[in-house]
Amino acid sequence: MNTLFLVTFERPCVFFEAGVPVKIYEVPPLPSVFSAGAVVLNAAAPVDDIRKYLTTIRRTAESRLLPIFLTSPLPSDVAVLADGVVTTSSDVATYMERVWQRSNGLPEDKNADEERALLAFLYSRQSELVPVKSVGSKFYYRYPLAEAFCASSKEADEMLTQLQHRGLLARSRLIDRIRLCPECGVAQINYVDACPSCNSIDIVKLPFLHCFTCGHVAPQDMFIGSSGMRCPNCRANLRHIGADYDRPLESFHCNSCKFSFIEPDIIVRCMACDRVAATDELEVRTIHTLVLSDKGRTAVRTGNVEDIFALLDELHYVSPLFFEQQLGWMLQMARRYPEDTFSVIGIRLRNVPELVMRLGRKATQELLETFAGRLRQLVRTTDLATRTAEDTLWLLLPRTGSEGCAILHSRVLTLEEHTRHADGTRLDFVTYSYTEDGKRPADEQAKLVMAQYLSALGDNG
Ligand SMILES: [Zn+2]
Ligand SMILES: [Zn+2]
Ligand SMILES: [Zn+2]
Repeated sequence: MNTLFLVTFERPCVFFEAGVPVKIYEVPPLPSVFSAGAVVLNAAAPVDDIRKYLTTIRRTAESRLLPIFLTSPLPSDVAVLADGVVTTSSDVATYMERVWQRSNGLPEDKNADEERALLAFLYSRQSELVPVKSVGSKFYYRYPLAEAFCASSKEADEMLTQLQHRGLLARSRLIDRIRLCPECGVAQINYVDACPSCNSIDIVKLPFLHCFTCGHVAPQDMFIGSSGMRCPNCRANLRHIGADYDRPLESFHCNSCKFSFIEPDIIVRCMACDRVAATDELEVRTIHTLVLSDKGRTAVRTGNVEDIFALLDELHYVSPLFFEQQLGWMLQMARRYPEDTFSVIGIRLRNVPELVMRLGRKATQELLETFAGRLRQLVRTTDLATRTAEDTLWLLLPRTGSEGCAILHSRVLTLEEHTRHADGTRLDFVTYSYTEDGKRPADEQAKLVMAQYLSALGDNG
C-alpha cells in the first residue's frame, strides 16, 4: 500500500486486531488527528507527502506534540520530524503513554508559542534536537524539527540562537566543525591552491630535476633534449641519478610566473560574496545536537514566569535604554565634579522558577510582591530602577557615596530573610554594588560600564 495511510490510536491503546490496524485512513483532514493518542504513517508512501504531512502536524498548535511513528526508516530530514520507527503495537503503546504522561504534567500554556512548544516537545520525549546535513543551506546543517515549528528557517535559526542565549537549550553531541566566510557568514567556500609568488591559480604538479653541476632546478621536461638529458642552464650532461642530478623537493610549477615551489598557498574564496581570505581568517562554527538544559527543563515545567518578574517593575521603573542614558550622564558629571559620586546596585533573583515548582504560582507571586514592596520602601524617589533580563534588576542611586551605598546594600541583603515562606523556602538572590569615583577614562561609555557591572554581578552568582 503506497498511499500515506494513517492509523490513529486512541488512548488507552487498543488497536491491532489479528494483525490489522483498527482504523486506516487515507490522509484524513487534519482535525481528525487532534484527539488521537498517536499516529502511524506508512513510510512506503512518497517521501514528499510524508514530509509535508509531518510538517503540517508540527506546525499546527493542536497537533504539535502528537506522537507520530513511521513504519520503516526514512531519510533523516524527515525522520527527525517523527518519533521513530515502530514495528509492533506494544512499541506504540509504551512510547505513547510515556510522552502523554510527561506532557500532561506541563502547564496549560505549554503550547502557546513555537518556542515553548519546542521545549515541551523535547521535554515530553526526553530527546535532543538533531541537525541534519543540507548542502543548500547557509551552514550546511539545519534543524528540521525547529523549522517545522516555525514559519521559516530564518525564524528557526533565530529561535534556536535565542534559546541557547537564554540558557534554555544547551549543546550536547558535537556533530561537525565548519568554516564560514568572514564577510557574509556562509559556509560555501572554495579552497584553491595557488602560486606563493604571484598568487596565480594556474599551477601544475610536475616531476622536477635538480642539476648537481650548477644547482638548477626545473621541471623534468626541460632537461630532456634530442641527445638525452642535459641541464638547460649549464648544458651539463646528466647521466646518473644520485651522481649528476636528483629529484628536488619542489614539485609545483607556476604557469604564470614560472616559479617552482614545494607547497602551494591555499586561497579561500567565498562562493557567495567572492571575498578572498586566508584560512585563519575564517570563522569556525561547531555544529551540535541541542538538549534542554536544567534551566530549560524548569522553564518547561513552570511555564511563563515573566508575569511574576514583572512585579519588580513597580519600582520607579525605567527602560534599560533610559537607564543607560542616565548612567552616561552621571558618569560625565562625576568626571567633571568628582565629589558628585553615585552608586549602582544590581540584584539577580536566582530561584523564581524553582519557587514556582515548589510553592506554586500564587505563593511565588506573593513572595515577589513582598520583596518588591520592601525594596520600594528602601529606595528614594530620585533613584531609578530597570531590568536588563527578566531576573536581573538594577538600581541607580544619584548622589550616593560608598557609605550610603553600603547601607542600602546591607538593607537589600536583609530582604532575603523577609521573603521567607512558611516552609522555610525563600527568595534566593545575588547582589553587586559599585560606587563611581569619576576616575574612569572618558572613552568608557555607559554601555561598556553597564556591561562591566553585569559581568561583575554574574561573577557573584
Ligand atoms: Zn646545470
Ligand atoms: Zn606565479
Ligand atoms: Zn562571503
